[in-house]
Amino acid sequence: MNNTITDPQSDLLDELCGQLSASAGQWRGISHWPAESLKRCGDAGVFRWFVPTQQGGFGWSDRDQTEGYLKLAEADLVTTFVITQYMGAVRRIAASENQRVAQNWLDRLMNGDQFATVGISHLTTSRRHLKEPALKAVEDNGGYRLVGMSPWVTGGAHADLLVVGATMEDGRQVLCAVPGDAEGVQAKPGCELVALSASCTDQVVFDQVRVDQSMILGGPMENVLSSGVGARPGGLQTSTLAVGLSMAAAKYLEREAAARDDLAEPASRLTAEINSLRDRLLSACDGPSAVDASQIRADANRLVLRSTQAALMAAKGAGFVQGHPAGRWCQQALFFLVWSCPQPISHAHLCELTNVPPALDLG
Ligand SMILES: Cc1cc2nc3c(=O)[nH]c(=O)nc-3n(C[C@H](O)[C@H](O)[C@H](O)COP(=O)(O)OP(=O)(O)OC[C@H]3O[C@@H](n4cnc5c(N)ncnc54)[C@H](O)[C@@H]3O)c2cc1C
Repeated sequence: MNNTITDPQSDLLDELCGQLSASAGQWRGISHWPAESLKRCGDAGVFRWFVPTQQGGFGWSDRDQTEGYLKLAEADLVTTFVITQYMGAVRRIAASENQRVAQNWLDRLMNGDQFATVGISHLTTSRRHLKEPALKAVEDNGGYRLVGMSPWVTGGAHADLLVVGATMEDGRQVLCAVPGDAEGVQAKPGCELVALSASCTDQVVFDQVRVDQSMILGGPMENVLSSGVGARPGGLQTSTLAVGLSMAAAKYLEREAAARDDLAEPASRLTAEINSLRDRLLSACDGPSAVDASQIRADANRLVLRSTQAALMAAKGAGFVQGHPAGRWCQQALFFLVWSCPQPISHAHLCELTNVPPALDLG
């Protein structure tokens, strides 16, 4: 394992990112699942960054994980986004008080031999206005039956294991680890999206799927996702990927500026702004501070839209042709308007876009 990346400053990470960047344009539709790039990441030990050393991971600090994600996202947003969902599942498995799932699965998941993903948005940011829970957990003989569906699951059809949240009749929630081939699980192949279609994100239907106690990662309890670790809506991980994509756009602008004087000032201003947000993001990783995650998310959303569109303007019509990265980055930037975006932030953006004074000041 001499190509293992053991810290975010490693030349091997830059080498991996070069390879990811070279193939990033290939991951276009639902038939382009980025298996090859995921394998490269698994071989380089990327999936161990996020797991404590006692469980066989590298136990990277939040700051190091963020630096790693920034570089990966700059190189290839599709593969990096898939990794966030994969690691969302892995981290919840590793952090669970029930270690049976970890004992059975963690090693193969960290090696990249098996793939896991999460379906939890219906407990946080999706379908919250509807009366009926999307996915119900019905008590059954010491365990549960899952009935319904998880509306958004990245790579669900490729998953060996699905970490999903479900709601009981009394409102308490459970978090379960369900094998992708369990009886009654039906993962749809992926929707064609505005961007990131190759993430093969789609519904997973659960038709009376039996879950026993050994598969319960958390709950039953209220707000099961607030216990343990993993990606939280509005957390720093979404902002990290937005800043990573902004860095790709700014570097493109810098390269163009080398031969075009009129681009020099816009490129250097954009780079300075991104560096400043990157510094705030990294400071926020170092623990409780004055830096507010919502503020960073709002700023990252604005920055990713502006920087990718600046890259497109510099690329002109050539950038609007399918296959040019500037056009791809613009489409991908739209994703941050909808991905795990907490209601107060999305409302503040909406007010900004429609010129309505916002109730919540996000700066
Ligand atoms: C590419 C992609 C990949 C994703 N991957 C994952 C994943 O792997 N795991 C995961 O858990 N999640 C994932 N998500 C989910 C994501 O984090 C958000 O939860 C999701 O984008 C929220 O959108 P929604 O359409 O479900 O929201 P909803 O709030 O359900 O809105 C849907 C529609 O309902 C209507 N509506 C909304 N609010 C109201 C209201 N208050 N009153 C009346 N009508 C209303 C509107 O017409 C709206 O268009 C993914 C999302 C995307 C786009």
